[in-house]
Amino acid sequence: MNPPWSEHQWQKSLSVAVSDPKELLALLNLDPNLLVESLCAAEEFKLRVPRGFIARMRKNDINDPLLMQVLPIGKELFSPVDYLADPLEEQTKNILPGLLHKYANRVLLITSGACAVHCRYCFRRQFDYSSNNPGRNGLVEVFDYIRSNPSVNEVILSGGDPLMVNDNYLSTLLGNIADICQIKRIRIHTRLPVVLPERITRGLIKALQTRLKVVVVIHANHPNEIDDSVATAMRTLQDSDITLFNQSVLLKGINDSATVLCDLSERLFSIGVLPYYLHLLDKIKGAAHFAVSKNKAKRIIQTLAATLPGYLVPKLVEERPGESAKTLVC
Ligand SMILES: *Cc1c(COP(=O)(O)O)cnc(C)c1O
Ligand code: SF4
Repeated sequence: MNPPWSEHQWQKSLSVAVSDPKELLALLNLDPNLLVESLCAAEEFKLRVPRGFIARMRKNDINDPLLMQVLPIGKELFSPVDYLADPLEEQTKNILPGLLHKYANRVLLITSGACAVHCRYCFRRQFDYSSNNPGRNGLVEVFDYIRSNPSVNEVILSGGDPLMVNDNYLSTLLGNIADICQIKRIRIHTRLPVVLPERITRGLIKALQTRLKVVVVIHANHPNEIDDSVATAMRTLQDSDITLFNQSVLLKGINDSATVLCDLSERLFSIGVLPYYLHLLDKIKGAAHFAVSKNKAKRIIQTLAATLPGYLVPKLVEERPGESAKTLVC
């Protein structure tokens, strides 16, 4: 299937994404009195949300599950002391600029520091991207590092959002990775197919042609995020033999209910995507108000397991610094 979007529509959509809290409040008929706190919180981490994503939000509803993920609010400014800038201690696993090697047999390459949407709970909201841009010379070192670690057979492109780079860059990058003969798979962790589905163009599909098996892991937290445009984007990826998974973050007031998560799994499956991980929130500064207790999380996952076929139940995981994999919570 051919995607219906023109090649450069996504860049246009990005350039008109909403970054002024005043405009977001107005578009959704929300109380203008929310503006002062929103502006304060946006100073720490800017508002950014594409208009197509806003179109999936309910008007007049400050508790809309999509809005809550993106609207800067005052609660972000009051952070408990155990919510930190780098709770995962990733800086210490930063082998080279842009490269994280925490787990066996796979490395994570920060391909772009930018995102189309700024998720308020993001564990990378405090991440130092400026010192993590490998640049062209840096990439040569990254490829050398991978070559000298023959057990590494999978490269994960992450960020930020790796699909924020243009098709030429991506195609060259994939070509260089495919030249490393031990590599079997390339995995792309991206929220763009959800928040900016027009990114899935014919040009992108062409850039993803490689001898490597391609896996795309999208990020949706609530069934309302998935509309027809997302379905179209996923079908396009599926048609080129790309394996599709979803990961979510468990977020208070957004998806901390078995009903919502059942609905999400069903919706994902209907567009060809299997649930992969449900992450407990990382203790990142500014995001404490999204935290769900571990006990509640376990109860939710038990209800999911009692309701859905096993393949539609995501794995509940948390990330603990120093562990050799994500830790299963059960
Ligand atoms: C999450 C993560 C991975 C991927 O882990 P999987 O369990 O294979 O999905 C790889 N590297 C880093 C640094 C990660 O944080
Ligand atoms: S798209 Fe992903 S990396 Fe970007 S802000 Fe959202 S959660 Fe963070």
